[in-house]
Amino acid sequence: MTAILSNLQAVHAAINHAAREARRDAMQIALLAVSKTVAASVIREAYDCGQKAFGENYVQEALDKIYELRDLQLEWHFIGPIQSNKTRAIAENFSWVHSVDRLKIAERLSAQRPDNLPPLNICLQINVSGEASKGGLAPEEALASATAISRLPRLKLRGLMAIPAPAGELSVQRAPFARMREMLLELNASGLALDTLSMGMSHDLQAAILEGATIVRVGTAIFGSRK
Ligand SMILES: *Cc1c(COP(=O)(O)O)cnc(C)c1O
Repeated sequence: MTAILSNLQAVHAAINHAAREARRDAMQIALLAVSKTVAASVIREAYDCGQKAFGENYVQEALDKIYELRDLQLEWHFIGPIQSNKTRAIAENFSWVHSVDRLKIAERLSAQRPDNLPPLNICLQINVSGEASKGGLAPEEALASATAISRLPRLKLRGLMAIPAPAGELSVQRAPFARMREMLLELNASGLALDTLSMGMSHDLQAAILEGATIVRVGTAIFGSRK
C-alpha cells in the first residue's frame, strides 16, 4: 500500500471517528486535500486512491497543475490569499474559493466568472481569532459582507471559512470553531441559506468536526510535511 493511500485511509478514519463522536453523518463532511507544494504526479496518485477535491494556495502553481491534470475529473478549490490581479484566473479555473475576505474581490470574481461554467462557490474567510497577521473579515463585518455577496450574479455564497490560531488542547481548539458555527446560524437566521463551514486542518480536524465542519482542509496528514 502506498503512503498516500494509507494516509488517506487514516484521515477518513479520523473523520469517521469524530463524526461518530459528534453524532453526525460522516457523509456530510467533505475532505479537501490541500496540495500546495505537492507535485502533479502525487495529486494523480491521490486521485487514483479516490480523492477528487484539491485545494491550492498559489495561483500560478495551481494553474500549472490544473493544466497538467486536465485529463482527470478534479474539483479545484482556491484557499489562499487573493490579490485582485489574480481574480480572473481564479474565476476561470476553480469550482470553489474559500478565502474571499472583501466585497471588492467577490465583485471581481462575479464579473469574471465565465457564463459557460456553473456559479463559483464562495466561502467568506473570517479572522475568528482576531490575529493581525491573518486574512479574513472581522466577525462583526460578516453579515453585511455576506448579504452583499449573496446578491452577486455568477457566485453562490456557501458559507464561512476560518483558520484559527493554533492550539494544543481539544477544548481550546473547539472554541473558535464553535463561534463559527454560531455565526453561520446567525447568518441563516438573517435570511441567508448557507450550508458550508470550511474549517479544520491536519492538527485540529477533530475539534472542527465536533463543532460542525462540513469541509475539512487537510494537507500534511495526507501528503507529509511541506519543505
Ligand atoms: C496549508 C493549508 C491547509 C492545510 O494545512 P495542514 O496543516 O497541512 O493540514 C488548510 N487550509 C489552508 C488555508 C492552508 O493554507
